[in-house]
Amino acid sequence: MPETKKTNLVIDFAGRDRLIVAVDAPLGRAKLADALPALFKVADAVFARTAAALAGMGRPVSCGPGCAACCRQLIVVSEPEALRLARLARDLPEPGRESVLGRFQDAAARLEQAGLLAGLIDAFSNQVHDWRRFREVQKAYWDLGIDCPFLENGVCGVYRDRPLICRQYAVTSPPEHCARVFSAQAKVEKVIHPLDLAGALAGFDGAGPQRTRALPLTLALLLEGLLKDRPGPEIDGPNMIARFLDYASLGYAGGK
Ligand code: SF4
Repeated sequence: MPETKKTNLVIDFAGRDRLIVAVDAPLGRAKLADALPALFKVADAVFARTAAALAGMGRPVSCGPGCAACCRQLIVVSEPEALRLARLARDLPEPGRESVLGRFQDAAARLEQAGLLAGLIDAFSNQVHDWRRFREVQKAYWDLGIDCPFLENGVCGVYRDRPLICRQYAVTSPPEHCARVFSAQAKVEKVIHPLDLAGALAGFDGAGPQRTRALPLTLALLLEGLLKDRPGPEIDGPNMIARFLDYASLGYAGGK
């Protein structure tokens, strides 16, 4: 890991207001993975801003620590996040490590039995962007009822390290609607985020835009070897964060 420096990122929301986020930015040449802790802080700050605005309108966000109602959905993460989560799972202390690794294996086995594994790997390897098909796969995945391998007694076991997609998911409807998201009775009121940081990260290679590359969180361990073979560019850390925020259309106003 490169050295880091405390940096205030100034996020400008189209001139309407600004958010200052204190992060530890990697110094010197860095990989995108090195910037993830800083990007997680940005995502948390953006979420808090959205939640505060909605609370002010009498529509409080239901999501928070302890809620895992959406953790059985097909969670798709960027490559550096998948690699980070795979390493995290391997480095967990016992006795938790064995259970988490076992759940990853079980998830892959169940996907294979259901005939979904090859398609998910193909979508990852060949960057398939058929969103209608993706919706079908989401439903088929949901029907299998596979909990995220990091769920421990109904609580996220890696909450501080959860990926961007989990940080930005927000609803104002009661959690039980997320827990039966594909049923006709479910009325999930998703918050339309002004910024899709998770999507932007999947479309960014560390130096600039790339065609979206992402994979199901449950396949992070299975595909770890492939991910290691794809090291992205290394550039100056603060410059990388600035480029990413610019790409994510945050109206980045620089560090100070
Ligand atoms: S990483 Fe945590 S928050 Fe995200 S799906 Fe898994 S258990 Fe849920």
